[in-house]
Amino acid sequence: SYRKGGYHAVRIADQFAGGRYIAQRKLGWGQFSTVWLAYDIKTSSYVALKIQKSAAQFVQAALHEIDVLSSIADGDPSNSKFVIQLIDHFKHTGPNGQHLCMVLEFLGDSLLRLIRYNRYKGLPLNKVREICKCILIGLDYLHTDLGIIHSDLKPENILLCSTMDPAKDPLRSEQSPILERPEGNINGGVTSLIEKRLKRRARKAVAKISGRRESMGGSGDLENSRRVDGIDVKCKIVDFGNACWADKQFAEEIQTRQYRAPEVILKAGYSFSVDMWSFACIAFELATGDMLFTPKGGQGFSEDEDHLALMMELLGKMPRKIATGGALSKDFFDRHGDLKRIRRLKFFPLDKLLIDKYKLSVKDAQEFSEFLLPLFDFAPEKRPTARQCLQHAWVNCTESPPNEKENESAVNVGMSNLKIRVGK
Ligand code: ATP
Ligand code: MG
Ligand code: MG
Repeated sequence: SYRKGGYHAVRIADQFAGGRYIAQRKLGWGQFSTVWLAYDIKTSSYVALKIQKSAAQFVQAALHEIDVLSSIADGDPSNSKFVIQLIDHFKHTGPNGQHLCMVLEFLGDSLLRLIRYNRYKGLPLNKVREICKCILIGLDYLHTDLGIIHSDLKPENILLCSTMDPAKDPLRSEQSPILERPEGNINGGVTSLIEKRLKRRARKAVAKISGRRESMGGSGDLENSRRVDGIDVKCKIVDFGNACWADKQFAEEIQTRQYRAPEVILKAGYSFSVDMWSFACIAFELATGDMLFTPKGGQGFSEDEDHLALMMELLGKMPRKIATGGALSKDFFDRHGDLKRIRRLKFFPLDKLLIDKYKLSVKDAQEFSEFLLPLFDFAPEKRPTARQCLQHAWVNCTESPPNEKENESAVNVGMSNLKIRVGK
């Protein structure tokens, strides 16, 4: 992808925006961009520099993202809403073309990494609560104040607020920002050693992901501490590349599969409440370490149909009016509101799942389900808003019971094992 129209190749100590920003090390990458830790000599602080690919469609996408990020920054001058702040943006011309660059506040590891570093066991509920509060304040701001739907909420798109001094990366020998290109041959010097180590580390981590798409990067807080308990869990919502204003929607198919709301699958129209569905999926995943819905296509049924079946197995039958109300309803449901090609559902309610499979105490499981279930209402307009969630007893509970999980070593007997699919 480092060719005309693609990524801009960056070397450590490269300068941007007339010398204001100096590249330090790569933080991550995505389909659209590479993201670099950079030192801002104007403010003497570290920032994240997102350098977009240069082809026309990427420029378009970046202009939109800058638009959304600008309104987010304008509405929150004190930066207290748990949403990423855009600091600056500019164009940078390189051998592959002209790249739009976004300067963002520097944040830490994603929630996906947090889940992974906790070995997919799930976080203590008081940490889940803390993270949920931040996301809800962020969502309330986006939805109520700005009219923006994020439309791609998932653990990768929520980053922890870094507490680490980026200059003290253990992989770097320097303790102060790199302001000039390191001396000597760049291919044989310190830089390539660091890069080799970074690459090795990235390869190892990628091997662990097992099919989940995520670029590496992050601040390294987690790798340094290795204990979730010691981590301050303030976090922020990032990646507004797919966000839209509720009254200016452009995409029909939104959201990453596992976090997608039923009305999106049925093409029944959508609004802010799609983010609330994803939010509830994230909360479950934080508490258990597992994705809630992992649909797969099979013999005689599609991934969409499996997804709808999984939802109903957990949440009960979809009301007929809703099941038959979308533009694609006829592909999936008969006129009675039953799935055409998946006839037998194995119902398994959320509180039971949390108790049986994830070993939450009965009390914790019931309180957590009481918080989550309204967010999984099949009727989008009935889902609580972010503001309403912030008032909920579960979010505001302060007691932290010592034994949140009664039996850590229990054998997993998951929903997926109980699932029966009968093709037609
Ligand atoms: P996608 O394919 O997900 O749309 P993208 O090209 O739009 O990717 P982002 O998701 O914004 O790029 O960023 C890519 C990666 O860079 C993130 O997953 C994260 O690891 C890192 N990153 C992004 N923004 C920051 C930041 N502000 N601070 C620290 N790291 C960041
Ligand atoms: Mg992303
Ligand atoms: Mg993006």
